[in-house]
Amino acid sequence: MPTRIIKADQSDPSPESVAAGSDIIRRGGLVVFPTETVYGLGADALNTEACSGIYRAKGRPSDNPLIVHVCSMEMLSAVAADIPESLAEKLKYLWPGPLTLILRKSSAIPGRVTGGSDFVAVRMPDCRLALELIRVSGVPIAAPSANISGKPSIVNGLDAARYLDGKVDLIYDAGNTRYGLESTILDLSGKSPVLLRPGSYSVEFLERYFGRIILPETLDISERKNIPITPGTRYRHYSPDKPLYLVDDPVLLENIAMGKYGMNAAVIAPDDLCRISRIPCISIGSGSDLDVVASMLFQALDSVDRVSADVAFAPTFPSHGIGLAIMNRMVKASVATLSDEKQVMVAIGGKNPSSQSGGNVG
Ligand code: AMP
Ligand code: MG
Repeated sequence: MPTRIIKADQSDPSPESVAAGSDIIRRGGLVVFPTETVYGLGADALNTEACSGIYRAKGRPSDNPLIVHVCSMEMLSAVAADIPESLAEKLKYLWPGPLTLILRKSSAIPGRVTGGSDFVAVRMPDCRLALELIRVSGVPIAAPSANISGKPSIVNGLDAARYLDGKVDLIYDAGNTRYGLESTILDLSGKSPVLLRPGSYSVEFLERYFGRIILPETLDISERKNIPITPGTRYRHYSPDKPLYLVDDPVLLENIAMGKYGMNAAVIAPDDLCRISRIPCISIGSGSDLDVVASMLFQALDSVDRVSADVAFAPTFPSHGIGLAIMNRMVKASVATLSDEKQVMVAIGGKNPSSQSGGNVG
């Protein structure tokens, strides 16, 4: 199909640019649009056939459900059932924003959107263009991240065009998104809130509103039995085609960058190291500001396949605050975490330790 690419202003979109997308959504087509987190690949959430198109365009496994985007609390009530007053009160402070909630679905939401589950993932994006697109379309918009399944999420419309040209009806060329990482997913279907995916809102911040949040990864196997897992975690994510290794020792990463173990590699690294690196180096900013690292991460992962190297290495970050979400994506994108020279030499020699993210491409 021919894909239209139109320029638009994320925070002050013209009515014409919004109408171009909403006409397509209403006709059951596919629109790539920015949110404050990453770009979404959207369709009318109430139209089963349109939502099937999302799975086809992305190559997404059919059991990996879609997040439904709404523009108002009225629209939330049409998507989800039994919303307690206390939740509506909290959402006054958290929405629009990078928080996806798992709630009981209403009968209006087709099973195609939720992977057959009675629960729906829903959020209100904090981006004027996205909110206007939903409002003028007059329907909630189901939208996963606008990447090919298994690949890094997309934070810029022109990057989306590289992968989705010919597969969708319209792509907004509206610059980079604000956060660059996906939303935090909180499952509110049980007694206690459970973190299904760390994201742009930190757990520490959300606990101020929801009290203690259960982090499934910190529970032992027996405790995990009754905890929901998100279907998406079964699949490999964010991965470049080349093997990417995390290196948890900064001195080791510096030695790799200086070519000590061979020149056939690339590094993702802070600016200081990029300045002196003797092998291709992909910047993630100063390295000390984790919000900047988060906003640059997906484009860095996407660049790995375009630099001249057979293998790539990246640093690790502290797993708290936004660092929890950064490390969640980096671990999934990588094949292993290395701590010593011997492991690095094996990696550069081309022998891949087995994947640490598990599952196949999704
Ligand atoms: P993406 O849209 O690519 O950011 O991925 C959306 C994530 O939300 C996936 O990991 C899904 O598994 C998760 N998700 C969407 N809908 C549901 C749902 N109804 N229940 C649990 N997880 C969901
Ligand atoms: Mg995704």
